[in-house]
Amino acid sequence: TRPTSVPLQARALRVSYGGFLALDGVDLDVPAGRVSAVVGPNGAGKSTLFHCLAGTLRPSRGAVRLGGRNVTRVPAHARTRLGVARTFQQLAVLPSLTVAENVRVGAEQGRIADPGAVERALRLLGLDGPVRSLPAAGLPTGTLRRVELARALAGSPRVLLLDEPAAGLDTDEVAALTRVLRALADDGTALLVVEHDLDLVAGLADVVHVMAAGRIVTSGPASQVLRALGSTDPRDPLDPAA
Ligand code: ADP
Ligand code: MG
Repeated sequence: TRPTSVPLQARALRVSYGGFLALDGVDLDVPAGRVSAVVGPNGAGKSTLFHCLAGTLRPSRGAVRLGGRNVTRVPAHARTRLGVARTFQQLAVLPSLTVAENVRVGAEQGRIADPGAVERALRLLGLDGPVRSLPAAGLPTGTLRRVELARALAGSPRVLLLDEPAAGLDTDEVAALTRVLRALADDGTALLVVEHDLDLVAGLADVVHVMAAGRIVTSGPASQVLRALGSTDPRDPLDPAA
């Protein structure tokens, strides 16, 4: 069957922690071939939404659909098999394995265990040189983040979810990451980036959704939404503490 052009959809998601409504009726489409971004101040519910999409949190109401199939009750590891890859902020790289072995693990956990995809992912992230044979333990954070992304890509995902992918990266690393993520979107992957850093979003996203207090309050083309937010302000205009 032909994959739908909106592989991942959230409908009327609701999550409460105790009595506190962290998600209050969230609808979201994550289309193929686009980078979508969810922005918003700390506490807006971005990570909670991310966890509902990845399957690490089950909403109390609403639905998550993948290729038209309701996966709301499908656990995270099974969603990975169905083509939803993610990266972890606390890196999930296995320290005793080499770079290439880590990426192979990603292929085995993914949608298709394709050795070609392992090599492509290593190449795309610049990990196909001698570094491929080094143990992950002791590699610099910037490299580990590339290993983490290669691991997520090696299973040939249809959807890639990233929570604050630029955290801890320097300017050059952010530029390189942006190029890689753009290339994936141009290849047809549906990308969703949950991000606090509006400069990264400005250079990367096609579509931006603004969250506040558990709801999506604005959605639209990135240039339009970011202009309305005043993203050229060096302080983060979404963060009242900035
Ligand atoms: P964001 O990622 O936008 O900063 P989160 O989704 O992490 O926001 O959090 C949304 C709100 O839910 C915040 O007020 C946060 O304190 C609260 N929250 C998040 N996780 C939990 C939890 N496990 N238990 C209770 N409250 C939580
Ligand atoms: Mg968060």
